[in-house]
Amino acid sequence: MELFNLKDPSEVVTFSQAVQQGLGRQQGLFFPKNIPTIDDIDSLLAKPFNERSAEILGQFIGDEVDAETLQTMVNNAFQFPAPVAHIADNVYSLELFHGPTLAFKDFGARFMAQCLAQFSKKEKITILTATSGDTGAAVAHAFYGISNIDVVILYPKGMISSLQEKLFCTLGGNIHTVEIDDDFDSCQQLVKDAFDAPEIRDGLHLNSANSINISRLLAQVCYYFEAIAQLPAEKRADAVISVPSGNFGNLTAAMIAKAMGLPIKRFIAATNANDTVPRYLKTGEWQPNKTVATMSNAMDVSAPNNWPRIEALIEFGYIDKASLTGDTVDEDYTQMAVKHLNDLGYLSEPHAGVAYKALKRSIEDDEVGLFLGTAHPAKFKETVENILGTPVALPKELAECANKALLSSQLDSQFESLKAYMLKTLG
Ligand SMILES: *Cc1c(COP(=O)(O)O)cnc(C)c1O
Repeated sequence: MELFNLKDPSEVVTFSQAVQQGLGRQQGLFFPKNIPTIDDIDSLLAKPFNERSAEILGQFIGDEVDAETLQTMVNNAFQFPAPVAHIADNVYSLELFHGPTLAFKDFGARFMAQCLAQFSKKEKITILTATSGDTGAAVAHAFYGISNIDVVILYPKGMISSLQEKLFCTLGGNIHTVEIDDDFDSCQQLVKDAFDAPEIRDGLHLNSANSINISRLLAQVCYYFEAIAQLPAEKRADAVISVPSGNFGNLTAAMIAKAMGLPIKRFIAATNANDTVPRYLKTGEWQPNKTVATMSNAMDVSAPNNWPRIEALIEFGYIDKASLTGDTVDEDYTQMAVKHLNDLGYLSEPHAGVAYKALKRSIEDDEVGLFLGTAHPAKFKETVENILGTPVALPKELAECANKALLSSQLDSQFESLKAYMLKTLG
């Protein structure tokens, strides 16, 4: 598969290069030269999730990875289901939180790990990433046990919840977690310093498992097919998908699925108060405000980094602009949505609450609505308990790791300290 840089179309790379490079020149995003279309959607939808997913991904990268290898990669990455739950009447939820770190990012991060393991077979590589909580967990679990890859995750001391810490600092093996005696910005600075230091960057073959990586998006395309496959067949053509959005990777993947021929009638870009996109869709003006903190904190993004890909999907005629609307859901309505879902017998959390509310405001009787459940309610336990006034139980995986010992190292925020640590541990 060939991809080009949206900022500099003369830069053309293979999928393998795009995965290893992340971004193109001038920080440009890679975009497929051609989005394949699928002729017989119904027979594809009839297949089991993993077999179907390998087929979808093969349409893009079959020229670089043979079918058998790709099937193995998919089987290793997608070891958990993406069930659709019927909520009420014509409303359904796509549950993307059954992976090891209880959020949809497991799908993309785990497939990316498989890709990197495949493409960098001959050399050992090091993933270096800073986390304020959730990304670190998805990356740690995705790369855990992959033989030619070491992972170093930096996180700010005392700034993440103890449950979050337990989720990624208890693995050991090839996962090295480092508590930095400073804030998140300082962790991010250390990552940048490492990429600027040839001894580390080249010596340890550094890579950042960045969320704009094309491999993560392609993996996410697969679960939209899985969602439509679970809807009643006669309703498939009327599907409306409401996506709780932050960096807009999830919505980009949904649109790629539609461009391939998956029947989706229209999309709702649902945001919290960080509403750059809904305002842009109404006024045509791109004016990011300062980011504000909300209950749905994984969506607290005001300059979404995947947006240029959505613009490209529209500009190149893959997606009709009229099929996308935006909506903003404030904190009060988010709480009410979580309560309302609970009244319907469905335990939810604020990110899904935003998507559910936006869907309810917009859906017509003859449509079938699907909102994404991007995180497990237990992942936002305290917030959900505050909203509902009832305790939320921890799922088995989380309860088990809560008793394990932390394995992190401690460092100050000097780059020299990190450098010495990395050369000693990984060199
Ligand atoms: C990352 C995340 C989002 C936002 O997804 P994008 O692809 O960045 O738009 C929504 N909900 C949860 C729980 C997330 O972790």
